[in-house]
Amino acid sequence: MSGAWTKRQFVGGTVALDFANTVCYRDDPGRCFDKITGPVELAGFTEAALQLSDAGGWDATAPSPDIDGIGFSLYLELREATDALLRPVARRESPAVPAFRTLLRLHQTLLLDQPLRAGGDGIEPDPAGRPSFALIVTHSALRLAGSPDITRLKLCPNCHWLFLDRSRNGSRRWCDMLVCGNRAKVQRHHAKRGKGALALSTGELNNGG
Ligand SMILES: [Zn+2]
Repeated sequence: MSGAWTKRQFVGGTVALDFANTVCYRDDPGRCFDKITGPVELAGFTEAALQLSDAGGWDATAPSPDIDGIGFSLYLELREATDALLRPVARRESPAVPAFRTLLRLHQTLLLDQPLRAGGDGIEPDPAGRPSFALIVTHSALRLAGSPDITRLKLCPNCHWLFLDRSRNGSRRWCDMLVCGNRAKVQRHHAKRGKGALALSTGELNNGG
């Protein structure tokens, strides 16, 4: 499904969350599905993410991902560690220590000889050094982990995506009001009219499944 990524898939608020959100309905094994089924999908995602994700200071001129050089399995390990660290936080539970260790290890590995700069995102990989997308993600995840923004981390009750609620009064409930919010509204409406629960198909709409 390379090329099928749209702005609606990048609502997490930072690139690490958008990457974690490439798995939909994580908390429901019966509906859970992974949009990144191989390197082709990963390449499509990274290309779109560098354009559409709020990558915290990274812009569209960031380098294309070196998937072959880093390895597909490392990307998946990175994504799962990011989710495992942050999902409990969104539930107001303790962050997962093994996941944090994994992220720190991957970050260290990915830094290698990368040049750094002090920029708008603090000390960060210098884009001139053509950092890999994986390094951009570890940087994003660890930056969020050390930021007051962590208290704004939420879990969409419909699709189970992670997102940062940057609303002034902290009242954002859905990853995307127009998709998950409306789906829930329709479901409530049907339930009220005695038609029973309507199967939510946000996966098809929002998550491209
Ligand atoms: Zn959602």
